[in-house]
Amino acid sequence: MIHASASRRVGFLLALLCCPLVAAAADEEKKADPPNIVILFADDLGYGDLGCFGHPTIATPNLDRMAREGLRLTQFYVAECVCTPSRAALLTGRLPIRNGMCSDTKRVLFTDSLGGLPEGEITIADTLKGKGYATACVGKWHLGHLPQFLPTRQGFDSYYGIPYSNDMKPTVLLRGATVIEDPADQTTLTKRYTAEAVSFIRQNRDQPFFLYMPHNFPHVPLFASDDFKDKSLRGLYGGVVEELDWSVGQVLDTLRELELDKKTLVFFTSDNGPWLIKNRNGGSAGLLRGGKGSTWEGGMREPTIAWWPGTIPAGGVSRELGCTTDLLATISALVDAPLPDDRVLDSYDLGPVLLGKGESPRKSMLYYRGRKLMAARLGPWKAHFMTQAGYRQANPEVHDPPLLFHLEHDPSEKYNVAKDHPDVIADIRKLVSEHEANLNAPPSQLEIR
Ligand code: MG
Repeated sequence: MIHASASRRVGFLLALLCCPLVAAAADEEKKADPPNIVILFADDLGYGDLGCFGHPTIATPNLDRMAREGLRLTQFYVAECVCTPSRAALLTGRLPIRNGMCSDTKRVLFTDSLGGLPEGEITIADTLKGKGYATACVGKWHLGHLPQFLPTRQGFDSYYGIPYSNDMKPTVLLRGATVIEDPADQTTLTKRYTAEAVSFIRQNRDQPFFLYMPHNFPHVPLFASDDFKDKSLRGLYGGVVEELDWSVGQVLDTLRELELDKKTLVFFTSDNGPWLIKNRNGGSAGLLRGGKGSTWEGGMREPTIAWWPGTIPAGGVSRELGCTTDLLATISALVDAPLPDDRVLDSYDLGPVLLGKGESPRKSMLYYRGRKLMAARLGPWKAHFMTQAGYRQANPEVHDPPLLFHLEHDPSEKYNVAKDHPDVIADIRKLVSEHEANLNAPPSQLEIR
């Protein structure tokens, strides 16, 4: 007969011994049963525009709850400060300079553009399709509106949305490659995108799926449905953001109702900073300097939340570096898919950050505006080699020596400390010259007319 306390001890030792087995089994199970992936992407939403990122009068209860149940990322970036290149980077895990999706003269694709995301690019949708996922794009594409560039040519089974910005004419709504509404009724757009997304989730509840949902708002012109347009303390802009928040709630509630919440990674962020020249119709970057179109932090650092109940620890805040280009490597690792090995990627697996298990493998950030590398960050330090004073200003101001800011001490980039830290500037110059030595930039897709 074993004494009770000895028995407990044996039990404890057995449990300890079994732990790695249990963990390994859980890992195996995860690979056998990979998570659904949902990317919710706002357009021109600023770093300071959500309640959970400090906005005083915009009410975002659903995103705030998502943050309480998930992880807020406070140093998460996009790879470019305007729509088209930012989206190309998210989907391909590559800087836009590597796939031709940027330009100094045409910042984004327009309705007379003949170019688009080259078919040879491998998107997150291609990767997940290769693993048997059902894939849908619902919302603003802006990676080429001609048939050969549409989402269904880039790994998506279906597409529903306005294929570019909502201020471009004709503002058509497409299903697949077919125009179904011209002009699109934008007052009900967020509601209809939401219905489409919810229906896709319901249809695919029994198999792995990838939903990429790039909203058209709060890009101007602003539209909200009657339920939201006159309700926000922050006026129409607030109403538009509050309707997006409602939409996020609908998506998360559907996952909860279908008991898919513990099997789904949902990632929320924005494509670039607020469009400040639109005054009250543009958003806020909070304490960050600058906005859309600039490589100050406000143009490229985004309000970001990751949610996966039971896997991502609830209520966390990560101050680690991340970028939308990292989603490709992060998702590929989660679903055990190979990464392309025939091209240069700018993608790090952020798994350790999301799971609360370690630091980010990303230690640096490159800030492109069009084809110009304007600034670079290494650890907490950011050097601006060039800055842009206004959204439309043609020629940037060159800084030599560069302006240097310590972003953790000085998140608003107010205090240039270049003269005190020549060693830091030398390290950042080395990072940039190593990057440029491997750069093989193809011609711009945005300049094809
Ligand atoms: Mg945008």
